[in-house]
Amino acid sequence: MKTQIMKEIPLSVPNLNPEIVENLRECVETGWVSTGGRFIAEFETAVAEYVGAEDAVACQSGTAGLHTALRILGVSAGDAVIVPTLTFIAAVNPVRYLGAEPIFMDCDENFCMNADKLADFCENECRRDASGLTDKLTGRRIAAVVVVHVFGNMTDMESVMRTARSYGLKVLEDATEAIGSFFTAGRYKGRHAGMIGDMGVYSFNANKIITTGGGGIIIAGGRNAAARARLARAGYLTTTAKNDGLRFIHDDVGYNYRMLNLQAALGVSQIKELERFIAIKEDNYTCYAARIAAMGASGLKLLPFGAGLRSNHWFYSLEVDETVLGATRDALLLALNARGIQCRPVWRLCHRQKPYRKARRYRIRQALRYEKTVLNLPCSTNLSHDDINYVCDVIETFRDKRR
Ligand SMILES: *Cc1c(COP(=O)(O)O)cnc(C)c1O
Repeated sequence: MKTQIMKEIPLSVPNLNPEIVENLRECVETGWVSTGGRFIAEFETAVAEYVGAEDAVACQSGTAGLHTALRILGVSAGDAVIVPTLTFIAAVNPVRYLGAEPIFMDCDENFCMNADKLADFCENECRRDASGLTDKLTGRRIAAVVVVHVFGNMTDMESVMRTARSYGLKVLEDATEAIGSFFTAGRYKGRHAGMIGDMGVYSFNANKIITTGGGGIIIAGGRNAAARARLARAGYLTTTAKNDGLRFIHDDVGYNYRMLNLQAALGVSQIKELERFIAIKEDNYTCYAARIAAMGASGLKLLPFGAGLRSNHWFYSLEVDETVLGATRDALLLALNARGIQCRPVWRLCHRQKPYRKARRYRIRQALRYEKTVLNLPCSTNLSHDDINYVCDVIETFRDKRR
């Protein structure tokens, strides 16, 4: 019997550069391991410069950043917030943290919120009055819309912003997966994910393109006084709303969400690698795409990133047409897992998750299709072409057996 080559290929793991060890040593030796220290401000400045923002506020996680930003955008108890259903649930939970209710929207073919359905919903399901936009069915005031730039793709922001502005909705960009993605055409040409709406959030969790172990950054797009005020408020709320550090005066109920110097010590080093990581992600994507295309009419398609943007190519999505492949997406997934290749189906849709089963939703179709047909392939930046060929060999063998 032939011995089978067996590898362990994780889905998405950090790529940590040696400089990080030096930075961490400095934190430990100087005692600056908590919410003060030079790396935090340096990381904020580096990220702000990279995305073209005036400033940025570093926090404990992307989720903490989204929570803080939604509160700053005026979401309060009893409100409704329009959110995508196809996303990691952390994009939705902060709505409930604030006592508000989500309204779930469908996605487009790029996994991001379907901007046409968003416009239709506001037009047909809502009424405008002095207090803003109200959902006719529930009577709730709709305060904001959260868009997620899924897998490094970008939401159709021209359309979303047009709708949001005409109905008076605030826009929060969950750009947790999309740092480095920006538009290369259209009205927002040159604008980074997170820099178009009223506020934006990045995540540096360990599975993201760059990492601080866990962490996030809050930005407030525009270069104007209102944006500056929102960002100042983010800095205030994430540090327990402390007005006076000597006397401990707090004028609001804040959070302990400030990023640690230990986390930022990773960040200052990782941000320098971001462009190199994006180049690797893109190259690896091209490698997968060529192999999968060469399989011909296999029922397998590596989905493209949208047009008119430079994507960071964070996560790769393989769509399985089971009628052509002769097997389900899950059968392929199990075959890959059995050979040490960590893959996973796209997330269970949020409106089908237990906490949100009764929540309002609007004409969801495409997301249901992707939920059944898409799996995510290994995409770490330390993946070699050999690794990718191994993954594709396993896929090809699986396909051949079904013929
Ligand atoms: C990772 C992620 C988050 C949350 O970020 P954390 O830093 O893990 O809290 C939120 N939304 C989406 C879409 C994500 O992928």
